[in-house]
Parts: sequence; C-alpha cells; structure tokens
Amino acid sequence: MSDVQTVATLADAARQMGADSAYLGGGTVLMRDVNAGTAPSRLVRTTDPALGEIRALGDRVVIGAGVTMAQILAHRDLDFLHPVARLIGGPQVRNMGTVGGNLFAPHPYGDFAVALLALGAQVTMAGASSGSARPIDDVLRDRERPSGLVASVEVQRPSAGSFGFRKVSRVKPKGVSVMSIAVLAPQSGGRIQGARVAWGAMASGPVRGQAVERALDGQSLDSTTIERAAQVATDGLSPPTDPLATSWYRQEVAGVHLRRLLQSMGGR
Ligand SMILES: Cc1cc2nc3c(=O)[nH]c(=O)nc-3n(C[C@H](O)[C@H](O)[C@H](O)COP(=O)(O)OP(=O)(O)OC[C@H]3O[C@@H](n4cnc5c(N)ncnc54)[C@H](O)[C@@H]3O)c2cc1C
Repeated sequence: MSDVQTVATLADAARQMGADSAYLGGGTVLMRDVNAGTAPSRLVRTTDPALGEIRALGDRVVIGAGVTMAQILAHRDLDFLHPVARLIGGPQVRNMGTVGGNLFAPHPYGDFAVALLALGAQVTMAGASSGSARPIDDVLRDRERPSGLVASVEVQRPSAGSFGFRKVSRVKPKGVSVMSIAVLAPQSGGRIQGARVAWGAMASGPVRGQAVERALDGQSLDSTTIERAAQVATDGLSPPTDPLATSWYRQEVAGVHLRRLLQSMGGR
C-alpha cells in the first residue's frame, strides 16, 4: 500500500517529491498501480485551487494542470479542444483525468498531450524548473525524468479551421488509441505557415511529425499537398507493436488517416 500525503500548494508538493514518491493527479493511471501493488510507497497530492483554473488572456488560454477533461468540455473558451477531450475515456475517466496527468500517461494514452504538442503549448513547472515556461516538446522529451511538477499549460487559440484532431480506435467512442493525429496548419495568403503535426501511439510518447510539417509548409492545403503529406506520414517514425496494432499496421494506415484529417480541415 502507498501512503498519501496532501499538501496545500503545488510548490509544497514539488518539495515533498523524493525517490519513492509519485505525484497524484486524478489518479486514473496511478491508482491502477496502487491496486496492483506496484505504485511508489508515497503519493503526494495537493488541494491547490490554482491547479483547477482556466484563464483566457486575449487569444491565449492558460489551463491549470489539475483541470479535468470534463472541465475542458464545459468551458466555452476551449471549444477547439472539445473534440480532443470528448474522445478521452468514458465519463468517469473524463471526470477525474487531468491535463497534467495526460502529459505523463504511458503509451497508448496521451491524446490530449498530442493536441497540446501540435498547438505548441508552453508548460509552466513547479519545482526544479519553476517560474519560466518551457516548450511542451522539451517536457514530453524528458517525461521519464521530469524536472518538477506541471503547474499549467498555455496555448494560443488557433485561427478558425487551422487545427484538427483525429483519433483512431477499435472501440468507439471510448477505446484507446491505435493512433492519434493533431495538425496545426495556420495559413497566410492561402499558404500554410508554421505547420505543427503531432502523432500519438506512434512512438513511446507523443512525437512531432516533422516530415509532414515540411510537406505542408509553404503550400496551399490542396489535394496535391495532402497526397505528398500522406506519402511521408511515417518518415522518421518507428511505431510500436502492442495488443492494439502492429507496427506494420500503424505504418500502413497512418497516411490514410492523415489524409482524412487534412481533407476535413478544408483540403480540396
Ligand atoms: C478506462 C480508461 C480509459 C482511458 N482512456 C484514455 C484515452 O482515451 N486517452 C488518453 O489519453 N488517456 C486515457 N486514459 C488514461 C488517463 O485517464 C488520462 O491520460 C488522464 O488524463 C491521466 O490523468 P490523471 O490526472 O488521472 O493522471 P494520474 O493517474 O494522476 O497520473 C498519471 C501520471 O502523471 C503524473 N502526473 C499527474 N499530474 C502531474 C503534474 N501536474 N505534474 C507532473 N506529473 C503529473 C503522475 O505522477 C503519474 O505518473 C484512460 C484511462 C482509463 C483507466
């Protein structure tokens, strides 16, 4: 069994973290380890109200790490994230599972993190790296050895039609991901500028699809561009084999799902 320690602030929680401790968010992942007897001996949680805040600042939104998927769905400023949150687990999981926990949820979980990666979120930490915001790319890369606890994530609201998300699962509507894809394709003068593409369940954690980003950047979102993007969908990726799908299957269907997502974003 694990002992649970409750502290007042996230900074206190960060100070309490040690070798045999884990931070407890909504617990939808961690409590399974507790039940299996494989969790660390000490779980640290906080009642810090700041973690549950959602603040809109112009075209930017700050989301506390303790915000649940259900809270995302209830917030009108986060409508661009509703299609993502809606596809995470069933109602009980969405009522408990948090944004912060999703960044560290193991494969094949992490669908919300995939969306945040494509959106280029900035992550504010408490603990060793407290204060300054870090690009989500860095936080996800270091997620096996996180340097502190996540306090909040900040994203820029995407312009209309520039952001899309697709989740492929065998059981609808709440199966876990065979893969998930998020695309941010802002356009200027009819050309895509600064594309960001992220894949879920195609590596040990969420990853950028840089070959697809190169295929999109500077192009209009037409059928030729979409076809080129689909052809390079898995370049640089080595998808895992797991009980949901083989690596071969993931490689075979990735281009098909990317093509459908880009077409749904207005590609002709
Ligand atoms: C039946 C079921 C279905 C699910 N379906 C999906 C799905 O479709 N898509 C999906 O993405 N996930 C899914 N999940 C996984 C999980 O529910 C979500 O990923 C959820 O967002 C995890 O958040 P949590 O707060 O419950 O994490 P927890 O279980 O509390 O923690 C998970 C990990 O994150 C760490 N952590 C939590 N908060 C922080 C923080 N603020 N800073 C640093 N580390 C932190 C914990 O220490 C732990 O290592 C499912 C889970 C279940 C049980």
